[in-house]
Amino acid sequence: MKMKLPSVPDTTPECKLTIMNAGFCKTKRSHLIKGADSTDISIPALFFLIEHPVHGNILFDTGYSTRYFEATKNFPFSLMNKMTPVQITEKENAISQLLEMNVTARQIQTVILSHLHADHAGGIADFNDSTIYIDKKEWRYGRQSKLKLLINGYLKHLFENINPSSVKLLDFEDSEYSYGPFLRTIDLFKDNTIILVPLPGHSIGQFGLLLNISNQERYFLIADSVYLKANYQKNKGGSILSRIAHYNRKQYESNFPMLKQLEMMNPNLIIIPSHDPDMYKQYINDTKVRL
Ligand SMILES: [Zn+2]
Repeated sequence: MKMKLPSVPDTTPECKLTIMNAGFCKTKRSHLIKGADSTDISIPALFFLIEHPVHGNILFDTGYSTRYFEATKNFPFSLMNKMTPVQITEKENAISQLLEMNVTARQIQTVILSHLHADHAGGIADFNDSTIYIDKKEWRYGRQSKLKLLINGYLKHLFENINPSSVKLLDFEDSEYSYGPFLRTIDLFKDNTIILVPLPGHSIGQFGLLLNISNQERYFLIADSVYLKANYQKNKGGSILSRIAHYNRKQYESNFPMLKQLEMMNPNLIIIPSHDPDMYKQYINDTKVRL
């Protein structure tokens, strides 16, 4: 598979990316990558603001939000907070951080959700006026009962009130558009800026976002395709417990060699998984936070 990406034409509208974080989850290092020590580690929940010169402000995911605590207050949902203890304050909710930057919810035209897990869709209820893009299979999966979803790692409370009329379902299987090595992608605005790439395995309909700013600056936001960059760089998954949590472990791990190749073949491409503490340190660099 040739993993070289096509070059970015000069005519591509120039987007701006801001990398942000909403909340942390406590786990053990050995949970994220096999063979690591079992020290505690706080992992971030990154989300991304993309300013598009024509299509306005776009969010890719929302991170956690303080609604997580309300949703996990009662048994059996409290089990989730036992498994994945979350730390977040009101001030750290995506909407609060955006307001701090003078961006209101109404000024977020579009929210793109990589998948429906609590650390990605946690703040979606704050963006009622936005158009929400989500994978068709993921959306259907999310219609199941709260209990069934809990067993599969979802908190339905966080996304059940999304207004269906604001949702635009992405049907990758129906797409004929390939972008470089990737088949069945979606060029969201048909202007080469945002290419959505299916990356299923972690969940039924997870996808990543390739952001083309220029040939010198391009990003692949890969959500939960790995926990750490080291997962694909060393071709090593997480603990047994973490591996069974994926929708399809084999499919999930089959992306590792692809990501490694992609990184090697495209030196200007920055691959960002959403929960890698090194990404937090590198791009958010909040010295007050210890990871
Ligand atoms: Zn996830």
